[in-house]
Amino acid sequence: MTQEIETTPEVGNFSTLGLHPSVLAAITAVGYEEPSPIQTQSIPLIMAGHDMIGQAQTGTGKTAAFALPILSRIDANRREAQVLVLAPTRELALQVATAFESFAAQMPSVNVVAIYGGAPMGPQLKAIRNGAQVIVATPGRLVDHLSRNGGLLSTIKFLVLDEADEMLKLGFMDDLEVIFNAMPDDRQTVLFSATLPASIRGIAEKHLRQPQQVKIASKTQTVARIDQAHLMVHADQKVNAILRLLEVEDFDAMIGFVRTKQATLDIAAALEAKGYKVAALNGDIAQNQRERVIDSLKDGRLNIVIATDVAARGLDVPRITHVFNIDMPYDPESYVHRIGRTGRAGRDGRALLLVTPRERRMLQVIERVTGQKVAEILLPDAKVILQARIRRLTQDLTPRVKDKENQNIELLTHLTTELNCSVEELALGLLAKTTEGQAFTLAGVEREQPVMTARSRDDRAQRGSRDGGGRSEGGRGEGRSESRGDRGDRGEGGRERRAPLALSEGKVRCRTALGVRDGVAARNLLGAILNEGGLSREAIGRIQIRESFSLVELPEEGLESLLGKLKDTRVAGKALKLRRYRED
Ligand code: AMP
Repeated sequence: MTQEIETTPEVGNFSTLGLHPSVLAAITAVGYEEPSPIQTQSIPLIMAGHDMIGQAQTGTGKTAAFALPILSRIDANRREAQVLVLAPTRELALQVATAFESFAAQMPSVNVVAIYGGAPMGPQLKAIRNGAQVIVATPGRLVDHLSRNGGLLSTIKFLVLDEADEMLKLGFMDDLEVIFNAMPDDRQTVLFSATLPASIRGIAEKHLRQPQQVKIASKTQTVARIDQAHLMVHADQKVNAILRLLEVEDFDAMIGFVRTKQATLDIAAALEAKGYKVAALNGDIAQNQRERVIDSLKDGRLNIVIATDVAARGLDVPRITHVFNIDMPYDPESYVHRIGRTGRAGRDGRALLLVTPRERRMLQVIERVTGQKVAEILLPDAKVILQARIRRLTQDLTPRVKDKENQNIELLTHLTTELNCSVEELALGLLAKTTEGQAFTLAGVEREQPVMTARSRDDRAQRGSRDGGGRSEGGRGEGRSESRGDRGDRGEGGRERRAPLALSEGKVRCRTALGVRDGVAARNLLGAILNEGGLSREAIGRIQIRESFSLVELPEEGLESLLGKLKDTRVAGKALKLRRYRED
């Protein structure tokens, strides 16, 4: 019944996709240069009114793939709810709502409202009543609204299920059914999911009409002689991470890939400020200027170019030793294509990739398609940076101190006499001059590093606890992957379950009297807490389900208010009654 379309990367152009002129203008303002593969395939289908299943993970550009055509098709003059996007978490709902707002920036009469737990219902309801055309919601909170106002969704024309597999993992199946039943049958439905297990296919069969299926082609790719590594980093810490990595990587020439024109300019400016010989390349740069940049990279006047995929097309510079994927490529093919810029002319190359927490799955897809592990590296700390600086200085000085022909002996005598100093004092003075602007002590290097924000530290702490827990996601795209909750359930539910577990940083344990005997699974707890507590998924630590009770790790900061929000929450039909748990 469904027709499968596999996307292959091809040069595209937003203006050929039939999008509304206001939407096109917004895309230009956001700085997108070309549609991603999933956008190239999905946009025409959605524009033509088809139901659709898109198999795509975060990082492929899936949000714009549905938001752009839907915004192009709504009736901006009608002040009523026309679009409903369902997302598994408050975090994603907010992200999608923000994306819709930016794509609707040139459509002043279009309003977007985000509906999620943990925030008062009044203002959300008011925004819907005031005629917001786009609702982005988490299922649990939307069902609460529906129980008060059953007609809320009667005017919906477009329904999007974003990260459908995640919604099911979080236990939202029943809520989804309630929502489907509250909507007109003649709506257009689009479902995006990273994996398509039987449960998702079941939903599609029941609630979608002859859906077209789009997925990113994932032919096995060969990547030879390129040493690959990735670093997990929060988006707002990318510049810091790049600066630190550049200190420790030995490169001749590097090409850094980003997604937008603005990013080419911002990153190039940040590197230039640190003294790197760098230029930006994007689609706005005139052809003759582009050629100048490439020539400069070839002959060493430049060492780094920060480019969008479009601008880097056809760029072939044998000097390139490093490809830096600052922003994730849209698909594995594009990754392989990008990193093929290094390792030319029989040389060894190195490819670096920054991965934000939400893009983990994309990394797994790349590893699967290329059949290679992309090793994880850690952010170089001050000690490693200091060692690298000393190593570079040593390399720089070696030929000079070994140079028997050094003509400066007379100057040395002159200076020590003139300055009335020892050779050692003179050497120290010269070192101070050579190293000007760069610290060569641990304390100095530490002072130079920007302070990590609390958010990023939190992300790292989360990652530590998650990876430490032996999380193994379904390696194959089709395979089942585990939610944090599932992992906790199994990891602590097996034979070694009684081993005491260290708490993650900044977390406390909370207890509920609901357990296995009440029919509660980790995903139900996770779903309820995310939805009602208004937390991001990263904020919830391990979940341990026992026979007659369960333990959940929650952030210590704001715990009282969180427990207040969860006061009336019910799971599996019973009161959750979560309390702080003291283990002594
Ligand atoms: P998503 O897969 O929807 O989470 O998108 C991942 C990121 O890619 C977001 O930061 C988008 O703003 C960005 N993005 C999506 N489409 C494009 C495009 N055509 N060109 C450049 N960036 C894009």
